[in-house]
Amino acid sequence: MADSVNTLPFFYGNITREDAEDYLRQAGMGNGLYLLRQSRNYLGGFALSVSYSGRCYHYTIEREPSEMYAIAGGKSHRNPVDVIDYHSQEMDGLVCLLKKPCNRPRNMQPKVGPFEDLKEKLIREYVKQTWNLQGAALEQAIISQRPQLEKLIATTAHEKMPWFHGIITREDSESRLQNGSRTNGKFLIRQRDTNGSYALCLLHEGQVMHYRIDRDRTGKLSIPDGKKFDTLWQLVEHYSYKPDGLLRVLTHPCQRPDGEISKNAHNKLMHGYRKPVIYIGRGSRHNTTDNLNPYETRLPNNQAAKAMPMDTEVYESPYADPDELRSSTVDRSHLFLEDGELGSGNFGTVMKGIYKMRKTEKSVAVKILKNDDNNPSVREEMLREANVMQQLDNPYIVRMIGICEAENLMLVMELAELGPLNKFLQKNKQTSIKNLTELVHQVSMGMKYLEEHNFVHRDLAARNVLLVTQHYAKISDFGLSKAVGEDQNYYKAKGHGKWPVKWYAPECINYFKFSSKSDVWSFGVLMWEAYSYGQKPYKGMKGNDVLQMIESGKRMDAPLNCPPEMYDLMRTCWEYKADIRPGFAVVEPRLREYYYDIAQ
Ligand code: AMP
Repeated sequence: MADSVNTLPFFYGNITREDAEDYLRQAGMGNGLYLLRQSRNYLGGFALSVSYSGRCYHYTIEREPSEMYAIAGGKSHRNPVDVIDYHSQEMDGLVCLLKKPCNRPRNMQPKVGPFEDLKEKLIREYVKQTWNLQGAALEQAIISQRPQLEKLIATTAHEKMPWFHGIITREDSESRLQNGSRTNGKFLIRQRDTNGSYALCLLHEGQVMHYRIDRDRTGKLSIPDGKKFDTLWQLVEHYSYKPDGLLRVLTHPCQRPDGEISKNAHNKLMHGYRKPVIYIGRGSRHNTTDNLNPYETRLPNNQAAKAMPMDTEVYESPYADPDELRSSTVDRSHLFLEDGELGSGNFGTVMKGIYKMRKTEKSVAVKILKNDDNNPSVREEMLREANVMQQLDNPYIVRMIGICEAENLMLVMELAELGPLNKFLQKNKQTSIKNLTELVHQVSMGMKYLEEHNFVHRDLAARNVLLVTQHYAKISDFGLSKAVGEDQNYYKAKGHGKWPVKWYAPECINYFKFSSKSDVWSFGVLMWEAYSYGQKPYKGMKGNDVLQMIESGKRMDAPLNCPPEMYDLMRTCWEYKADIRPGFAVVEPRLREYYYDIAQ
């Protein structure tokens, strides 16, 4: 949302209430003249400033836990622009109808808050330290989880601020403030306990004043009877520009003694960073399946604890640890099969198992070839699949751990316990659009990797996307996949096989030609499956009828309630001509942009 709001001519970004009043005054203070700005106390929230009868009125537009926006106590809307549209028709508690936008002066960009500059650095550092990631794995983690990471950083950023002194006594805070320059307004924040209670310590005429900062039941922080904030840095920012009940404004941060907090933070990281419970909007916690709070580590629910892909054991290759020897073969004596099938196919079955590695034990999925001497080609097929998988290493692709030749030929893979995406969605129809988009975006990241490494999947479909958690998808089933040349970037099949025709681009059927562009076509169908919660595409139609439909220029309708932006993207994936169809290098950023928009 934040990104698209930035392009509104009447959005001013992180300006103060006084600045807003100045702009309205400069524009004539007409009745119903309004502007939108970023909330300076609620994460992801906005403020609406309106002039009426020569006065300015300010309303907070809060982001609610349901991702909707509303003026406190008012009707909820999908985004702040809808709130404005609504109040241009209905007063509904406002002082007047919104009549005319007060646009930014020419050449003025929305104001960027002080935190924005810090954010990038903090996110990178946080991901690096918390999950011990670097290189491509680090970049991919940031791309796929940016909205979640931004919220996380916003609520922990104070630990990096020079004015935050951690848990120190009242006496210590006084001696630190009295030490060195004794400027009025010199301040620090200390932590009073581990339940989210702090104190703002402020030097005034040589004396230190201590203001308690408490967290209310909804997670908001405030000085008693003062304005409420989502984060400490927002509180400091606010009291730095107006006293608002304090004896004076905050002027000079009292520098914390060097290294103290970073050591503290380092210890926390080393002993398992306890991610904070984050409260959004009015603060009731997300607890429905579609809105699992991705940072909630205090819930007993395992799903919630492993909500970020990086929290699971399959984000990085098991061989990323240099102490684990990379080998394409798995020793049978280290592999323990468990009862119960994960799935099956014409090759045999897939079972759950445990693989004992040098340092760790891994839960794995084991594809077991049935002993069928009459059909040696199935064995070859499985070895070909293993050969392709062995060359791939990406967080959004099921990795092969190794091949095991024992009583049967076995392909040992990473486990994606929640199984195929289509089946999961059929059973979990309350999954939010945001969650669907997060998963589909991850698939596009995996596909972009395949495209970059010159592999074509040839069987991309929701049934072949497996879920590790509700927030983590991996592409699987490389049985039909091929490596293609860098120059001749397509694979030409020798003949028609048992093909998933409904997922195939016209050039696959007509010319047996497979490329990343034909994978993009399949990806469009996969998106359709996701947004229709696992329905079968072209329901009730035969392969030939589908082909005719495509040739006649018709395409599937949008799934019910599918966001128009996502249906537009599907239609682009179903561009008849492969040269006009975008590649994953284009599809992935488009999905990313939409995902950030709805998730931020
Ligand atoms: P496949 O023939 O590769 O599509 O596998 C058949 C079924 O086995 C899939 O639809 C899944 O239900 C299950 N399966 C395959 N691979 C895995 C895996 N790595 N983790 C969990 N389940 C899997």
